[in-house]
Amino acid sequence: MARCEIRDYEPIIGSNEVEVILSLAEKVNGARITHVNATAYGGGVAEILKSHIPLARSVGLDARWLVLSGNKDFFEITKSIHNALQGNTSTKLVKEMWEIYLKANQLNAEILKVEHLDDDEFVMVHDPQPLPLVDYKKNGGWIWRCHIDTTQPNQQVWDFLKTFVKKYDALIFTHENYIPKDLRDNKIFVRQPCIDPLSDKNKFLHQTEILDVLEKYSLDPDRPIIGQVARFDLWKNPVGAIEAFLRIKKKLPEVQLALIGSFAHDDPEGDEWCKMTIINTEASSDIHVLTDLNDVEVNAFQRAFSLALQLSIREGFGLTITEALWKEVPVIATRVGGIPLQVIDGVTGFLVDSVEEAADKATFLLKRMWLARKLGQNGIEHVKKNFLVTKDLKDYLMLHLELVGA
Ligand code: UDP
Repeated sequence: MARCEIRDYEPIIGSNEVEVILSLAEKVNGARITHVNATAYGGGVAEILKSHIPLARSVGLDARWLVLSGNKDFFEITKSIHNALQGNTSTKLVKEMWEIYLKANQLNAEILKVEHLDDDEFVMVHDPQPLPLVDYKKNGGWIWRCHIDTTQPNQQVWDFLKTFVKKYDALIFTHENYIPKDLRDNKIFVRQPCIDPLSDKNKFLHQTEILDVLEKYSLDPDRPIIGQVARFDLWKNPVGAIEAFLRIKKKLPEVQLALIGSFAHDDPEGDEWCKMTIINTEASSDIHVLTDLNDVEVNAFQRAFSLALQLSIREGFGLTITEALWKEVPVIATRVGGIPLQVIDGVTGFLVDSVEEAADKATFLLKRMWLARKLGQNGIEHVKKNFLVTKDLKDYLMLHLELVGA
């Protein structure tokens, strides 16, 4: 993918918006911002930073991206922490586990040299894996951006993490509902993630490119395809997507399902959930489980979907939904977490409370492609207005100015 400059987005967002961003950037004047997360590949945060960093640099910010190092134990523990924050009550973290988590952060603080930051630098720490780095803060403004659905966190885990969260100068959550009630003293902002309309994942593709990808993976372009793109993960509910599909297929036998998943480097549970998904595909040869597609291939599939499913049990935001809406594909998704910010019921797709309802709504929509097209058109407008990387950059610049008191 060619690196994009802010001017490249002018045809999408208009010249006025570009000027606003450039004038904000001038005020921020080359400031350094360091993002820290747990993986360079897989999942929404890596996806956001891949586009945000070059774009921020193109307007003169000194933006950089550091990735935590950790061993298998560390990532198993941080996945348990992630699950607990999403509400898994059975997770118990014992003293030795917390020690491994803290020790890994101490080592990373040395490797990443966080004690040597300048006073006017900002550090944005994403999600819980690098959260304790703040203990080594000497200078700079520290922001914790939590991308997780923390509506009902496991209390034991939250109580432990809270001591670190409180040390941050500012916090960013994706939804008002995620802000824990027991945080009183931090500055708190609500901001949504975004997609890059010019990236390989989201750029325009010609019909022939889409057909080539379908042929490569043996899907029939003449029959409807529904799909869910997601990491293989408990919370993404791939098995629920298969159940919904099998119900749809009883009424519309020609339909095909594509379950497209990847394995994030910081997610040790992916293999197990992929196997579990594959076991459930035996019921139909029209279920395709596809792994590790490149960005253009994911893009092609999303453009080929008649509709997208996202039947997550919990979902911080769901960039896969944003991506589908951007491609004018309506989304049928569970009414959880950040999903209703994107799927506006009856406008950009349908919100559902069960697999049965998902199947009913999907069948309804597949029989009315005129309505699917209308919802798709609404979807792209919704994303254009709210969830593009240019808006994310503008949000950051304004937040920066607010934090420095400008
Ligand atoms: N993704 C991908 N290939 C896959 C599955 C997912 O590139 O096989 C990408 C997807 O397109 C999206 C990101 O991974 O950009 C997932 O972000 P999301 O916010 O939906 O979920 P998260 O994984 O962060 O919980």
